[in-house]
Amino acid sequence: MVRSPVKDTLILARRLMVTEQLAARGIRYERVLQVMGEVPRHLFVEEALRSEAYGEHALPIGFGQTISQPYIVARMCELLKLEGTEKILEVGLGSGYHAAVLSKLGRTVFAIERIPKLAERARKTLDSLGMKNVIVKAGDGSTGLRSSAPFDRIAVTAAAGEIPAPLLEQLAEGGRLVMPVGKGEEQRMMLVEKKGGTLLRREVERARFVPLIQGSGRALSEGEKVRGE
Ligand code: SAH
Repeated sequence: MVRSPVKDTLILARRLMVTEQLAARGIRYERVLQVMGEVPRHLFVEEALRSEAYGEHALPIGFGQTISQPYIVARMCELLKLEGTEKILEVGLGSGYHAAVLSKLGRTVFAIERIPKLAERARKTLDSLGMKNVIVKAGDGSTGLRSSAPFDRIAVTAAAGEIPAPLLEQLAEGGRLVMPVGKGEEQRMMLVEKKGGTLLRREVERARFVPLIQGSGRALSEGEKVRGE
């Protein structure tokens, strides 16, 4: 087999990401570390940014949106306590990277993205990796996906002032939801558990995400900036 120095460098960078960013910052859930050590994050960013894909930061993916930094993806996955059997909803598909990680930790992922071109690009990347258990939908995910509800787990990867009610309704009994809540810099990662029909909310830590655009928010054109992560 021909070895490619570029490929070797990316594999090494991915290993270092797991040990120096995730494990070192307190991610303990072994399956999350293992899966993030496998999913080729560099394929979810444009070619010019590939060498930076495993750095400790978010990266632009066009349309003013970003792929979250590795630690945040890991932390959100860890909070969801996935065991492999769950039906998951992700709101804010973006590049498709987080959905790819979720797809290896749960059973099925329904992922919604409001910018059709991003949804299309993510779908192609996921297809090229043979990730058949991710179902991609273009549209406003703040109303969830009633036709496929309830969901055992819900991950919202864009921030809003409060958790949209339809998402809480579509959470299954015993389910978990994670979402950054708050405006501007003042966001907190919230974890919600539905137990006996009651919602238990817990603020976990600070977060910094692009906004969840609800309803008929103006669509962005390529290159337009909302706010970096
Ligand atoms: N999880 C992504 C990054 C999220 S960036 C990844 O792994 O790359 C947040 C994404 O949420 C953006 O792509 C943005 O277009 C999308 N978004 C914002 N509001 C939305 C809404 N109401 N419904 C679906 N997607 C939305």
